[in-house]
Amino acid sequence: MDGNQPRTLRSLADLAREGLLAADAAADPALAEVAARYAIAITQDVRDTIDRSDAADPVARQYVPDARERETHDDENADPIGDDAHSPVKGIVHRYKDRALLKPTHACAVYCRFCFRREMVGPGGAALDAAETQAALAYIRATPAIREVILTGGDPLVLSPRRMGELLGALAAIDHVDWLRIHSRVPVADPARVTDALVAALKQPKAVWLAVHANHANEFSPAAIAACAKLADAGIPLIGQTVLLKGINDTPEGLETLFRTMTKHRIKPYYLHHADKAPGTAHLRTDLATGQTLMRGLRGRLSGLAQPVYVLDIPGGAGKVPVGPTYLGADGTVADPAGRRHAYRDD
Ligand SMILES: *Cc1c(COP(=O)(O)O)cnc(C)c1O
Ligand code: SF4
Repeated sequence: MDGNQPRTLRSLADLAREGLLAADAAADPALAEVAARYAIAITQDVRDTIDRSDAADPVARQYVPDARERETHDDENADPIGDDAHSPVKGIVHRYKDRALLKPTHACAVYCRFCFRREMVGPGGAALDAAETQAALAYIRATPAIREVILTGGDPLVLSPRRMGELLGALAAIDHVDWLRIHSRVPVADPARVTDALVAALKQPKAVWLAVHANHANEFSPAAIAACAKLADAGIPLIGQTVLLKGINDTPEGLETLFRTMTKHRIKPYYLHHADKAPGTAHLRTDLATGQTLMRGLRGRLSGLAQPVYVLDIPGGAGKVPVGPTYLGADGTVADPAGRRHAYRDD
């Protein structure tokens, strides 16, 4: 391998040089079109979890560009869950009364091919400058209904520990904010960023919950496991966030192993997201019936502690709702995990 290969691969040529794409990929006009539109980044840690002998490797599929990303369907949308309509000031999305998103950066450690914000994220994407950050904080201070601030992006954990500490400190100082939440792929995708300084920045006088985004058990490399342990040891409650992805984790065994791995490493599986209709992601989406069948299967074979809630973010911004299987029948029966129906007298 080329000794000058960068630690994070950011171009088709980088990927071709490492054998993650065909040698002539950089000259492929279809892939060039994809790469011009959607950012690429694959860290060394992620590459180390890829099995090069597996053409359908579930980690590689999450990050390596695919010519099918050019195919945009008419129900796909650059803003699939309607964030823009609920943005009172730059960097804030306030859709539910009691909680608001704060997006301090558009950069991520890695760029995922299925990302629902794929039109917004990227290394050049504008982050909030100092004045915009103050304006966002002022909105939260002036809105007592906001009880929780959720840092997302981009990936907030690419901010320096100093900026992270300042931002969390300012949010924790707001009386009506009861707790904070951060959504991040950094613990699994770029665990070297989970330094003592970052952990210190996450320790605040109010609870800071961390949602770790992972879609396959193979993402839990020894370094990722160590990063999660460091966070959990520091008293930071960890929850897991997963996107259901065709050809990546849409099997009973795949999901069971992922949720067992999370729970074993002190990450409580929180949501299994039905994939959003972001442009060029149809080849990675399942249908809802597939997700429901998978969830029904997990009920009987996996501890209740390790079960996430299967959710759909309704296109257009109406909100997230559970879409898992229902067990109660209209006929006064209830289904058990094996699907057998039992009468239940509801009185
Ligand atoms: C997903 C989301 C939240 C968080 O929802 P929870 O169900 O509390 O995890 C908050 N605001 C917006 C705009 C969201 O899209
Ligand atoms: S890390 Fe999150 S925000 Fe960034 S590309 Fe992946 S899914 Fe999108």
